Amino acid sequence: MSKPNLNPISWKFSQRAEQLQSSAIREILKVTMRPEVISFAGGLPSPETFPVDRMRAAFDKVMAENGKAALQYGPTDGYGPLRQFIADSLSTADCTIVPEQIMMTSGSQQGLDLIAKVLVDEGAKILVETPSYLGALQAFSVYQPNFVSVEMDDNGVVPASVAEKGEGAKLFYALPNFQNPTGRTLSVERRMELVETCARMGIPLIEDNPYGDLCYSGEPLPKLLNMNPEGVIYLGSFSKILTPGIRLGYIVAPLPLIRKLEQAKQATDLHTATLTQMAVYEVIKDGFLQEQIANIRRFYSAQCDVMLEAMGKNFPEGVTWTRPLGGMFIWVTLPKHINSKELLDEAIANNVAFVPGGPFYANEAETNTFRLSFVTVPPAKINEGIEKIGKLIKARM
Ligand code: PMP
Repeated sequence: MSKPNLNPISWKFSQRAEQLQSSAIREILKVTMRPEVISFAGGLPSPETFPVDRMRAAFDKVMAENGKAALQYGPTDGYGPLRQFIADSLSTADCTIVPEQIMMTSGSQQGLDLIAKVLVDEGAKILVETPSYLGALQAFSVYQPNFVSVEMDDNGVVPASVAEKGEGAKLFYALPNFQNPTGRTLSVERRMELVETCARMGIPLIEDNPYGDLCYSGEPLPKLLNMNPEGVIYLGSFSKILTPGIRLGYIVAPLPLIRKLEQAKQATDLHTATLTQMAVYEVIKDGFLQEQIANIRRFYSAQCDVMLEAMGKNFPEGVTWTRPLGGMFIWVTLPKHINSKELLDEAIANNVAFVPGGPFYANEAETNTFRLSFVTVPPAKINEGIEKIGKLIKARM
């Protein structure tokens, strides 16, 4: 038989897809997967904290006792008992959250995409922090918005900058707790000011809060959600308090928006995996998260201290960095003339890695910045890695 003449297709992507780029971090992670590299680059939680046995037991139990329901299609908004549990955990003395306000998602990353899908038209103004979470910038970019960067300082977003730049904005994307990438926290005093400013200007706030529970001391700070549940879209996630591989998060939003988000999610993936939701409910329903979160806080806090101490010893004068009160990241600012991307090339040649700051900026990048994650590298290696980076910085001073 003669071979048919099958011309290869020349792929012409949609305008939307032409906007897509691989995350700079994922590209760097490929390099840093080499076992000899001490990597402070990843945004991964520490696998030491994953409750593997409990998860396995929960999946077994759900399959044994409720296997048919667990393997069936489920409702788009998610598994009822889990949504009730989340609603209860988010409610405060003067703000009740009901399960109808909650939709489970395949990670909060899906929440970011769905929110933009239902609220953002091409050219819509989205306010973002400076810098902001790269994955959100990526998710929103697909919908071709106009990003406007809002000022931050050590106390988080500057509300006056929102007032100054926010006119006509469709959304403000906020990371109030232990921000990715800077590790900064929005001060308690500023929270109400920010919520009021946005409400006055008619700007819905997205409160993305995957790290909020991971405070090193005291209790988590008040949520913007509880200050104005009608004006805040809240994103929660199990990635940093259980495990990210299960891909489980949720959106809390006012009812009209939740209904629209549900339609968008239906079109995307019908619903998040039933088995996973049931197993997670099984794991957390009797209070396990309290113990789990306490362990992660202790562990991450100790790791953070090791890194801060090593930085104090090894980084020269003229370099500054944040001192996170929780979460997984430290943000470093070098003297203006040092480009962190170039520094990274040298660092990788020396088997140590971080993420250069540039990609975290929606607009003009500060190329003298970088992010360090301190949770996956053991203390001795943190010291070794920071010493190496310190030497490379000194050579460029
Ligand atoms: N928001 C922020 C600020 C994050 O850091 C991450 C994960 N790195 C996400 C959202 C996405 O998390 P998830 O695993 O829940 O999709």
